[in-house]
Amino acid sequence: MTELQPICQSCDKKFVKWDEIVIFRGIAYHKDCLHEVPGVSSYFDKSLQQEFLGTGEDADFDGDAYEHFEELEEEAQDYDAE
Ligand SMILES: [Zn+2]
Repeated sequence: MTELQPICQSCDKKFVKWDEIVIFRGIAYHKDCLHEVPGVSSYFDKSLQQEFLGTGEDADFDGDAYEHFEELEEEAQDYDAE
């Protein structure tokens, strides 16, 4: 069994502390990187693969990244400083 990585499978970005994430079958995604079909609560990866991931009931975890991963950065390191 592979250890859960704090990286979004869809966009390949590392999670930061306050990201909302959803985990399906041991793979984590940003909630924003998923397409949720209203009404039936089905989740698809928004990337090119458009993979069906499961329904809300299949999600192993739905919440903020810091609740699941320790030692995350407070903010993304590559944000645009203005
Ligand atoms: Zn993502």
